[in-house]
Amino acid sequence: MTATAPREGQLWSRCGGCATLLYRKRLRRNLDVCPECGAHARVAAPERLLQIVDPGSFTALPERPAEVDPIGFVDLLPYPHRLTAARAGTGLPEAVVCGTAAVGRQPCVLAVMDFRFLGGSLGCVVGELITLAAERALADEVPLVLVTASGGARMQEGALSLMQMATVSQAIAALREAGLLTVSVLTDPTYGGVAASFATNTDVVLAESGARMGFAGPRVIRQVTGRDLPEGFQTADFLLRHGQVDMVVPRHALRGRLVALLAAARAGRRPASRPGVPRQEPSPLVARPAGGAAATTAPGPGGDAWETVRLARHPGRPTTLDYLETAFDGFVELHGDRLGADCPAVVGGLARLDGRPVMVIGHQKGHTTAELVGRNFGMASPAGHRKALRLMRLAARLGLPVVTLVDTPGADPGVRAEEQGQAAAIAESILALTVLPTPVVAVITGEGGSGGALALAVADRVLMLQHAVYSVISPEGCAAILWPDRGAAPQAARALRLTAPDLCRLGIVDDLVPEPTPAAHHDPQAAARALREAVLAHLLPLLDVPPATLVRRRRQRFRRFGAARLGARAGAR
Ligand SMILES: [Zn+2]
Repeated sequence: MTATAPREGQLWSRCGGCATLLYRKRLRRNLDVCPECGAHARVAAPERLLQIVDPGSFTALPERPAEVDPIGFVDLLPYPHRLTAARAGTGLPEAVVCGTAAVGRQPCVLAVMDFRFLGGSLGCVVGELITLAAERALADEVPLVLVTASGGARMQEGALSLMQMATVSQAIAALREAGLLTVSVLTDPTYGGVAASFATNTDVVLAESGARMGFAGPRVIRQVTGRDLPEGFQTADFLLRHGQVDMVVPRHALRGRLVALLAAARAGRRPASRPGVPRQEPSPLVARPAGGAAATTAPGPGGDAWETVRLARHPGRPTTLDYLETAFDGFVELHGDRLGADCPAVVGGLARLDGRPVMVIGHQKGHTTAELVGRNFGMASPAGHRKALRLMRLAARLGLPVVTLVDTPGADPGVRAEEQGQAAAIAESILALTVLPTPVVAVITGEGGSGGALALAVADRVLMLQHAVYSVISPEGCAAILWPDRGAAPQAARALRLTAPDLCRLGIVDDLVPEPTPAAHHDPQAAARALREAVLAHLLPLLDVPPATLVRRRRQRFRRFGAARLGARAGAR
């Protein structure tokens, strides 16, 4: 059921659910819910705010986005043209509206997404604005209410949009630590990177009637599995049945539910006893100078980006278990998520690195078809993410550093994965890493595919093998959405800036690990030596850092992925 919101200025509009022709004003009075069939049409952010907050109480946060095009993305149109069109079409500066308000006379901060603006996609500015909203809630000691509507991360901003999942999640983590309530309201649709971060790692998750939420979209799942999807798949009622949301709320009842939740949180809140958390300096949202590093099409040492993608996927490329055999010693594998499953696509356990005990967690692919199938091609299920989460927390309790090896096309896009809460599993893993009180070094060894990769890559140091790739979406997926044909994957690979040199330039990756010539699969032993040396070089200095400092610096690392820093970096090179 896809009910589209009617355009302004029309007198009549047709219900997307039952096709009844409805008088526009009557529909608006009914909160854009069809009086005939109850279909909930999509609501623009400004209308949504009017429906939720006390009249006249909303004050927009002062921050305003500027032009941001961090990777100089061009598909059929340059990205800035799409931004301009979205602004003209919506009258909004970006895909989220943030501000302070009262709901039932209780103060809170709200961030409301607008699907009309480039599909409500999560880019650097949206991430920055929601983070600022969360920081405002922390400073004011009030709850944060997020109303989500998004197709996922904004691919036109490449891996930087992926980083926003971590940036916002750590702001949510700060509210969690401060005992401040966070509520998300899932509206139709909420998918991808938004679903797998702040839409599901809040304290309470409400789903509006008719909303659909998931990590992978139905089209992708159908394509990958070749199966028909169950009736009502990913709908609010499906989510409730599978334990993914606290309640399903019709639009008319939404404000009342929020009032009740905010009142309960307020009544339960003790007077502040902890010192206020200092606010981070927001990164000013200024456009990067034209002609910066991202505007050049510098290919990595491996040559063309598409060629690098093929190397990163080479079946002979060393896997996590290969590196555990060669770069580490004494690996003792630990299994299971303690909730009913053991995912073969994620391996982990205790090992020694140059004599020091560490916890190693990584995606596991394979070299033969049988191995790849047995390991689900390195695509983790929710159980895999929950196993990783369990091992991270165990490492922190034991005071062991964590080394993650990332090699996945992405998280498992399957029906069961969605039923078992793929989005929430990834979201919790990302959030946990932002607060883990032990050193974390991540190495992208092969494919770093979207949220599934980030779930293991929120680290103090992120390293990347020379011919690995790290991307918000696969080149094929990006081509299918933005180009007329899937054959455009090589062009999409170049546009996405997914190679190690690109990501080092963008500050997402700290160091490039050289591979033997021509690539790791030609000399796995040499590749393992290079990986061990690089991990040691980055891990050793972290071992003496006090945990609180470590966590603070990690948060700063992910807090700084704003546009201004990018401009500074590009200028410095
Ligand atoms: Zn209807």
